[in-house]
Amino acid sequence: MVSEIQARVILSRVRQPDDWFGLDYGMNLYRGCQHQCIYCDSRSECYGIEDFARILVKANAIDLLRDELSRKRKKGTIGTGAMNDPYMPVEAEVRQTGRALELIDEFGFQTHIMTKSDLVLLDLELLESINRSFAAVSFTITTTDDSLAAKLEPGAPAPSARLKAMQTLSKHGITTGVVMMPILPFIEDTPDNIAGIVMQSARHQAQYIIPALGMTMRDRQRAWYFDRLDELFPGLRQKYEARYGDRYQCPVPNARRLEKLFSKLCAERRIPTRFPRYRGHAPEQGSLF
Ligand code: SF4
Repeated sequence: MVSEIQARVILSRVRQPDDWFGLDYGMNLYRGCQHQCIYCDSRSECYGIEDFARILVKANAIDLLRDELSRKRKKGTIGTGAMNDPYMPVEAEVRQTGRALELIDEFGFQTHIMTKSDLVLLDLELLESINRSFAAVSFTITTTDDSLAAKLEPGAPAPSARLKAMQTLSKHGITTGVVMMPILPFIEDTPDNIAGIVMQSARHQAQYIIPALGMTMRDRQRAWYFDRLDELFPGLRQKYEARYGDRYQCPVPNARRLEKLFSKLCAERRIPTRFPRYRGHAPEQGSLF
């Protein structure tokens, strides 16, 4: 179900330095996400989203964004994709993200988009235009097994489609790579899965892979995730409860070994494991008066 809401602000300042994703500002043009990943942190109570499957379009987002961009004295990299996917299926009709990118281009800002969808190719030309300074697209890939991904990320395009989109973007000169997180304990934490992600990423011209070998879990998100584990992987919830209790940080049990394997494979293929932050922003000018 898709309905509209009004937002009060669109851009939020990101605490600096953002070494993970190189963002200066973040924005969310929707509430809720059609991709419905079973592990999604946006279900946590702190975000106050009661029904995460209900998609709310922030109807005044583009007007607000124009106003906010026109008043910013400091240019910067604007990220999207933290609380919902900017290219979930509804984007093909509503084009909130596409219109926001037009404004980012018009006002001379940069962008770093995080997505699980090849729909991002709808905006290839715009991204090329923004990329006269800097445009980056990161694809979240937690497994290259399309059938496993269909269970874990049921509303998102298959990883194979994401990888193809990444290759297309790379060929067009866009900075693009993989966000390899979360890696779900007892499901995705195998050497084969990690090696598969690195090798497929290399094959599809990833320019970086940002890893996190584990997941986070809290309150409502944990409850939702455990219910899905009961349906999809009977018996696994009990393993999680025994190992992690109610901890927030849940690294995979064999994190050290997988980290070594990951680093070795990336080094052999010369794939950086950090995001290449854009450093071209002009320093802020102090007022003379
Ligand atoms: S794509 Fe991202 S925001 Fe959407 S459900 Fe999956 S993890 Fe959550």
